[in-house]
Amino acid sequence: MKLKDRIALVTGGGSGIGRAIARLFAEEGARVVVNDLNLPAAEQTVAAMGAARGRAVRADVADSAQVRALFAEIEREFGALDILVNNAGIAPAGTEREAIGGKAEARLAELLSGQGVQTHWDITQAMTDEAWRRMIAVHLDGTFFCTREALRFMSRRNRGVIINMSSVAALMGLENAPHYSAAKGGILAFTRAVAREVGSQGIRVNAICPGFIDTPMTAPISPLLRTAVLGRTPLGRWGEPGEVATTALFLASDDSSFFTGQWLSPNGGLFTG
Ligand code: NAP
Repeated sequence: MKLKDRIALVTGGGSGIGRAIARLFAEEGARVVVNDLNLPAAEQTVAAMGAARGRAVRADVADSAQVRALFAEIEREFGALDILVNNAGIAPAGTEREAIGGKAEARLAELLSGQGVQTHWDITQAMTDEAWRRMIAVHLDGTFFCTREALRFMSRRNRGVIINMSSVAALMGLENAPHYSAAKGGILAFTRAVAREVGSQGIRVNAICPGFIDTPMTAPISPLLRTAVLGRTPLGRWGEPGEVATTALFLASDDSSFFTGQWLSPNGGLFTG
């Protein structure tokens, strides 16, 4: 049991990677607060962990008042927090996602025809203020709001672990998601800065930069685009949420006691820098 009796908060724990992390942490002895926008989804995660091991709490991490209320509930119920996983996130959705998918397929077809790419991305010039702001708000504001509250707990006891979910988008830049890439890049810089800030208090802060992982977030990606990603992935497959969860377990446990300000990237070889 690597996390026996530790108290953890996993944001966005109602789905995908967050759910896998919450379940693994519970198996390793932690009591886990599972946050999500979608309360029934968070409750399903807790049910899968065993109700005694966790608690589901709805909050929008992009809203600082809701984040304060979430931590007030943790204070009332548990009185401490050992581990924060800033995992909640969104990807382009709706018409934005359709436009990206259509262009990606058109570009691939043009490349294969041998006549050169005629369809340009034009993502940044078409992006609305709302799409930009929501992406930054959920990922970067959400990571900041939760980290600020968590540090108030952790600095009382001079110990704690924070894990921020970044992405290969931060390392490589994703040509079809400049707002997502900027948000994830910001999370990586924030991770490094806060790690330096709080290291003297025994608090460790690290990031995970997953490659393409099979979750509800990536389910809408078309078979053709999946194949294109596979073509650039030496291990020849997408990752599983559990493979990110084992990375999070390493960073959360004392096995990584000399790691801070670092990123680990379970990505099948897609990015090796
Ligand atoms: P997912 O299956 O869509 O899960 C994300 C969860 O976060 C969902 O339950 C979602 O709720 C919740 N959420 C969204 N906005 C929220 C908010 N404002 N407050 C609280 N919860 C919120 O996605 P995933 O693939 O597991 O991704 C988890 C994290 O890994 C994200 O930060 C993502 O950017 C990152 N990541 C994923 C991949 C990948 O390939 N899957 C790769 C690199 C990094 P709703 O369903 O209600 O929106």
